[in-house]
Amino acid sequence: MNDENRISLAGVIGLPVAHSRSPQLHNYWLGKYGIRGHYVPLNVKHGDLEDAIGTLPKLGFVGVNVTIPHKETVLWLADLVTDRAALIGAANTLIFRSDGKLHADNTDGYGFVENLRQNAPNWIPASGPTAVLGSGGAARAVVASLVEIGVPEIRISNRTRGRADALRSEFGARVRVFEWLQAGKMMAGAKLVVNATSLGMEGRPDFQVPLAALSPDTVVNDLVYTPLRTPLLQYAAKLGCVTVDGLGMLLYQAAPAFERWFNTRPDVDEETRRVLLG
Ligand code: NAP
Repeated sequence: MNDENRISLAGVIGLPVAHSRSPQLHNYWLGKYGIRGHYVPLNVKHGDLEDAIGTLPKLGFVGVNVTIPHKETVLWLADLVTDRAALIGAANTLIFRSDGKLHADNTDGYGFVENLRQNAPNWIPASGPTAVLGSGGAARAVVASLVEIGVPEIRISNRTRGRADALRSEFGARVRVFEWLQAGKMMAGAKLVVNATSLGMEGRPDFQVPLAALSPDTVVNDLVYTPLRTPLLQYAAKLGCVTVDGLGMLLYQAAPAFERWFNTRPDVDEETRRVLLG
């Protein structure tokens, strides 16, 4: 097939994937830049993962995003793993290279940092401590990025203490672990607070971490984006904090993947946000 007739395919593999907003976003970008291609959600069971990844390039796929529960497993199947994916211990982007090699990357940390750079431009990473709530997959990407961009002290608290301790042993002495019942105290003097738990998300338990120690000069970022204005962000905005919602991270993590697959760097702007909000 010559290049003019080529239709490039990409998608997201996970279980379930029906809730994913990535198809809306990537298909919007494909249309906007006049690229002949489609992005589709692909339900893949654990036992079928290796077969699916072996077959997709033969069907015209240039790559896929990876979501729960396959983010860690795909690292074992990849021929090349970027340093940031190895550090985080998970991949969210696969590239099917023309030489047949499978390349695994993780763009969540990039999305997290770029969202802050764009929406809290006055936050200086080296200016003081960051407090992170949670120690799941998203928190791992957040902590790896905070270490990389020079945050001097990263305070972590998680309901299951062992997962926070594991982050400390992996990411080193800049990480301080607080008991979950003391999580509110982490916020005293923090320049940035990040909610990387699912608390406050629609259908999940309410966000109940005490916020009395939060000060108006703290930037507050919630990774939860359903709802967009979470109770944490509403409280922080009333206090006078700069607040950053989770939708931007979702947008910015998608841009480098799209560029790798379709050789075009997409814009992230207000229109893109509107597309994602449906
Ligand atoms: P995950 O690996 O399942 O981790 C969930 C985290 O939430 C863990 O720290 C867990 O604590 C904590 N948690 C869950 N229920 C809790 C409860 N009742 N009380 C206290 N802590 C609780 O999920 P994830 O992938 O890290 O995602 C975390 C959140 O970030 C989700 O809301 C997700 O939608 C959001 N996210 C957003 C983006 C974005 O682009 N904006 C990207 C990734 C994730 P335990 O360890 O104790 O279970």
